[in-house]
Amino acid sequence: MKASCDFCYRHCRIEEGGYGYCMARKNEGGRVTDRAYGRVNALAADPIEKKPLYHFLPGTRTLSLSMAGCSFDCDFCQNHAIAKDDMESGRTIMPGEIAAMARECGIPSVSFTYTEPLVWQDYAIETARIARSMGIHTVMVSNGSFSEEALERLLPLIDAYNIDLKGDAEFYRSIVHGDIRPVLDGIGRIVSYGSHIEVTTMAIEGIHTPEMMLSLRDELIRLGVSVWHITAFYPQRRMSSRRPSSDSFIYSLADMLSGSGIEHVHAGNVGPRAT
Ligand code: SF4
Repeated sequence: MKASCDFCYRHCRIEEGGYGYCMARKNEGGRVTDRAYGRVNALAADPIEKKPLYHFLPGTRTLSLSMAGCSFDCDFCQNHAIAKDDMESGRTIMPGEIAAMARECGIPSVSFTYTEPLVWQDYAIETARIARSMGIHTVMVSNGSFSEEALERLLPLIDAYNIDLKGDAEFYRSIVHGDIRPVLDGIGRIVSYGSHIEVTTMAIEGIHTPEMMLSLRDELIRLGVSVWHITAFYPQRRMSSRRPSSDSFIYSLADMLSGSGIEHVHAGNVGPRAT
């Protein structure tokens, strides 16, 4: 019997014994379950600025973790080894253990990050519930491929988000192999709900033109976003033959966009400015 998943905008209808697009959700006996609930494939105490979040608990560390799977298939994926290529590795750590680890280490937040937490949101939700009961905040770093149902579940629980806005609609079609519409809708819903949100665009030299960036800026202004990170591309996966984005390219975009309607525009993954 086929079964439906409502974790992201794809709303996969999955055959008995089969997997959804993300390869993380499985139809087992007519019920969609996680392929490996709790199998954590990356765990680190990162500076929160690395998420990047510059305006939420600044100067603190965040206990960051991931499980395998992603709802998009970006040609440039920077984390494909753990998001797409290896669905089996990791060690089982339950939500209560994660929250307890953060508390014992004096870390004020837990971040669901590195891969795509929407596809393992039941684990994130359970962890967020326990963390909140201990006074620990939670952060979701996501591609924004929300379903309406996911937003309903997550908005009351997650304290802060960094959402990628990867490019324009054509970029999503041809390079992300996804859809920009749920991303824009999700960003708007998070802003309206009042949760903390910062948006990131990884800019690829030769693709992210000033015109594209200005059109993204207009969308973010319309949605009420006040923090935008412009970060540098590093060659990966199906785009491994492109050259990395230069620091001067990223700084020139950040300079163009600063003071043009978004309160904070930050350049990221770059060295110090040349003097
Ligand atoms: S999380 Fe998204 S991609 Fe994965 S099975 Fe569910 S609807 Fe499909």
